[in-house]
Amino acid sequence: MYRTGEAAAIAQLRERDELNQCTLPLMEDFYTIQGEGAHTGKPAYFIRTAGCDVQCWWCDVKESWDEEKHPRVTVGEIVERTVKSGAPLAVITGGEPLLHNLEPLTIRLRQEGIRVHIETSGSSPLSGVLDWVTLSPKRFKKPLVENFPYVDELKVVVLTKKDLAWAEEMAALCPDTAMLLLQPEWDTPESIPLIVEYVKEHPKWGISLQTHKFMNVP
Ligand code: SF4
Repeated sequence: MYRTGEAAAIAQLRERDELNQCTLPLMEDFYTIQGEGAHTGKPAYFIRTAGCDVQCWWCDVKESWDEEKHPRVTVGEIVERTVKSGAPLAVITGGEPLLHNLEPLTIRLRQEGIRVHIETSGSSPLSGVLDWVTLSPKRFKKPLVENFPYVDELKVVVLTKKDLAWAEEMAALCPDTAMLLLQPEWDTPESIPLIVEYVKEHPKWGISLQTHKFMNVP
């Protein structure tokens, strides 16, 4: 779990109304099934913030990059929709969600008894109260070293052998408790046999698949 300095988080536990009025640029939010990584198959409310400064060429949500193209939505509205969905957990993703201060949103979600997970490239500082941190590092903009101690799950997208070396470099910086997962890039099926052989030879790693794409859910 990550907490923005305990004192800061407690200080933020002030008026709910005050937190609810904060805004975030939002591309979309929806209730679905977590499709990839350690929590695959769990129902989750996805909150996709807008804005990304990493800009991977193979990104499948390029429309999220420019935050000016998306409305700013109040934390109150986002939390209300999450609660109404009945989801036990929220996944904050992007874009790159750490471009924004996540304290108001994450504190309000946890006040409502909702677990908070984040999927991030780790290239900006962590913020808020986070029950689960999935680090999906990108070579285009490297993760900050200070974020590694909070990683619960390392998920590296693999296209070529070079990515396997990069994955090992990233794993060496993670806590021993972190789950280590390799994920084939969807449009690069030749990465699958590469990953299968690698995981058989290096069993500390597992494989993550984008099952939501097979299930045809968002
Ligand atoms: S970090 Fe994520 S949202 Fe940003 S470009 Fe890469 S894949 Fe797309």
